[in-house]
Parts: sequence; C-alpha cells; structure tokens
Amino acid sequence: MVFHVLTLFPEMIENGMQTSITGRAIEKGFLHLDVRNIRDYTQDKHGKVDDYTYGGGAGMLMQAQPVYDAWDSIPGKGIRTIYLTPQGRTFDQMMAEDFAKEEELIFLCGHYEGIDERVLEETVTDYVSIGDYVLTGGELPAMVMMDTISRLLPGVLHNEDSADTESFQNGLLEYPQYSRPEEWHEKKVPAILLSGDHKKVDEWRLEQSELRTRERRPDLYEAYMEQKRLYEEMHPPKRRKR
Ligand code: SAM
Repeated sequence: MVFHVLTLFPEMIENGMQTSITGRAIEKGFLHLDVRNIRDYTQDKHGKVDDYTYGGGAGMLMQAQPVYDAWDSIPGKGIRTIYLTPQGRTFDQMMAEDFAKEEELIFLCGHYEGIDERVLEETVTDYVSIGDYVLTGGELPAMVMMDTISRLLPGVLHNEDSADTESFQNGLLEYPQYSRPEEWHEKKVPAILLSGDHKKVDEWRLEQSELRTRERRPDLYEAYMEQKRLYEEMHPPKRRKR
C-alpha cells in the first residue's frame, strides 16, 4: 500500500508514522509513505499558500493552485483522494476495510479555515471526518486513518497481534484480557482462562464481548442483535426426521 500525503507539515506525518508498528511496516516495505509539502508547489514568490476568504470572515484559507499542483504531481491517475474534514462521513472500521482494498491512497490535509472549494471539487473522491469536533489540521486525522488501515494489510501485524479478534471485527467490542501474574491487587484472572479448554474459553469470550458491548455501546449491540436475528431467520435449526 502506498500512502501519499499532501500537507503543510510533513514532519508531523513523518515523525508520527515512522514509529512503532507503522514504522516497522515502512522499514520492511509493506507500506510506502510519500509525503509532499504543499508549500513546495506554490507559484507565489514568497512561498505563500493561503489568503483571505472572499465575502469576509475570520481566518485564512488554503489556496487552490498549490493544492492542485501538489495533487497533480502524484504519478498515476484515478487514485482515491481523501480530504480530512469535520464535514465528512465519520470514519469507522468498515470504511477502513474498504480503503484497505486499494493499492494507493491520497490524503489531503487542510489547515487554517480549510481549502478553497474549487480544488476540492476537482480532486476529492472521499470526504472523511474522525469525529464531531474541530482540529487545527488534517494531519492527526490522516494518521488515525493510516494507522487503522495499516493494521488490516497483510504482513503489517505479526500473527500474534492479529486484527481478527479485535473490537468491531465481529460487530462487538473485544472481551476483557489478562496477562501475568495470575493474581494482582487481590484480583484473580478468571479461572476459565487457565483451564486449557479452548471451546469454553471461546464461549466465555463471546459472552463477555456481548455483555461489554451491551453495557458500553448499546447502539452497536442493537445492530449486532439485529444481524444475529436475521441470520437465525435465514438459517433456522434443522428439524430431526422422525
Ligand atoms: N472551517 C472548517 C469547518 O468549519 O468545517 C474547519 C477547518 S479546521 C480548523 C482545519 C483543517 O483541519 C480542516 O481543513 C481539516 O483538514 C482538519 N480537520 C479538523 N477537524 C477535523 C475532523 N474532525 N476530521 C477530519 N479533519 C479535520
């Protein structure tokens, strides 16, 4: 997967992505990071990339020309271009799975008051938000997305860190987990986890996932129960022949 990032703060992206699991994936060649500084593409002799908004109002707006030229410098056509914006669809695991099917993605990070609408109309295929709040720039949202998508790519996680059992993968939150020691602050690890009975452990984990989701995310739980109901309707238990 190639992540192209268009930003005014390339060091933020480079520093953030070069650490931990994503850093290792870049080093091993599972991920390729191509960060372009929008300022390098401005035709303004003073290096300016922003200006006042027409119609008045506070703040500066990123201008169309440098953004378009930075985007146009990326070789290859038809690459999905994501504009990080509080006005987009809220990012979730299903969207991450969809983006993970692409070979390349372009992330366009706004700053100040955002970006001139005309260049967005010509370049952007997906408007994505990471939540209903306003950040100063699109760099953190782009990193949130790249991190989430990276985890789904072959080779990025070690087998033991598999994403399959994590929250949202089956419509539920993950079950509680424990590591050594068996007792800490007088709290014992649930006995079932020490039993060695894998079937029972799996049943316990599913039960805990359901409980936790019902308590913490009733909205998710309702959707999960509805899916389960539909599945059971389509696959009724077979009646024994007499
Ligand atoms: N004036 C814009 C508005 O009201 O919709 C907000 C601009 S914000 C201060 C600057 C930049 O931060 C945006 O262009 C966008 O790239 C990024 N940004 C801010 N909040 C975001 C969010 N919740 N999700 C994704 N990107 C966000």
